[in-house]
Amino acid sequence: MQVPSLALALCATLTLSVAPDRYERLADTYVEAIEALNEDHAHKPGKTTEAQLAKQVPGKANKAFEKLLGSESADGLPEALERCAKAALDLDLVRDFDAAREALLELDPDRAAQLGVALSRERFLLIGEGGLELPYLEHFAEILGDVLGAYDDVFGFDEYSKVPGKKLRVRVHLVDAITKPPHFAPQHAYHSEVDFPVIDTERLDSPTDKGQFLFYGLCHELGHVIAMWGDRSNQADHHAWAHYTGVTIVEHLAESRKKPKWLSHCRDKQWRSLSKERKQLEDTAPSTQDNDGVLKLLIELHDSVGPDAIGSAINRLDEQDERLRINAVRYYEFPALEEALLSELKGKQAKRKLKALFADATK
Ligand SMILES: [Zn+2]
Repeated sequence: MQVPSLALALCATLTLSVAPDRYERLADTYVEAIEALNEDHAHKPGKTTEAQLAKQVPGKANKAFEKLLGSESADGLPEALERCAKAALDLDLVRDFDAAREALLELDPDRAAQLGVALSRERFLLIGEGGLELPYLEHFAEILGDVLGAYDDVFGFDEYSKVPGKKLRVRVHLVDAITKPPHFAPQHAYHSEVDFPVIDTERLDSPTDKGQFLFYGLCHELGHVIAMWGDRSNQADHHAWAHYTGVTIVEHLAESRKKPKWLSHCRDKQWRSLSKERKQLEDTAPSTQDNDGVLKLLIELHDSVGPDAIGSAINRLDEQDERLRINAVRYYEFPALEEALLSELKGKQAKRKLKALFADATK
């Protein structure tokens, strides 16, 4: 059948021919628009969510991106697509990320593979690297969703990102051997991110054969995401806080009535639990000076005012937003926590007990 000439002309416009030196500028238009939206938001987050922010990408930037997607292979195109894919993740634009990655698959499969895969959920964005595939991220999303749900039940923290409204990121990457445990990476300008190494491609098993507690590690790192402690010169109590929230969440999930299926492969509670720490620190005095003392203080607070009051106190401090910030991450100090807890507590006796505990810990 003969193709009408009009149809031929339309087909020709599907692959736009763009001079190679323009690819960089097209990518600039898209990347800079996302950067500007994130920058403005970080200065004045208000109540804007990342989903609302993502709808504000200007038409000009979207057109530039579409032009790149429809371009023919030439020098500079893979680099431009890669930049756009990475920028898309900075605004949770997984559809754009997938489109750029798809276009790259044909042009430069290695570069496309290095970008990994992405999965977006209401509260977080997962990026899978090193050969991980989407089903793994879906499995990981179930675990993270349940862990965040446990944090909600126990503490009720409002924010999981140093920039309110932005989703938490977890970069899950497949490695041959875990040499560094999961860690909170505070350096990203517009969101909070956890770096999470895994060695399995089917499901998360924890502890690993080498005794690495990945499930507890995830719960622990979220503690760091929520609150860092001390000041620029004294950060000694960071891990005691994250350890406290971590073991509390591990125990809460392990003891929940309706256990999620994945939990049968995450047996961390046997070694990492609040009850174990409570017993171990029986004879330790609460203090704000060293790791064990801080952990004891937090456990005593847990057992007296309760974790929900601790959560409300942190939320109260976040609302006031007068804390020290390093890389936009909020830092907390115990005197401010005590004050916020006192505002949460009702009844003179409870307030007196709280004051006595802090006086004891800081003497
Ligand atoms: Zn830690």
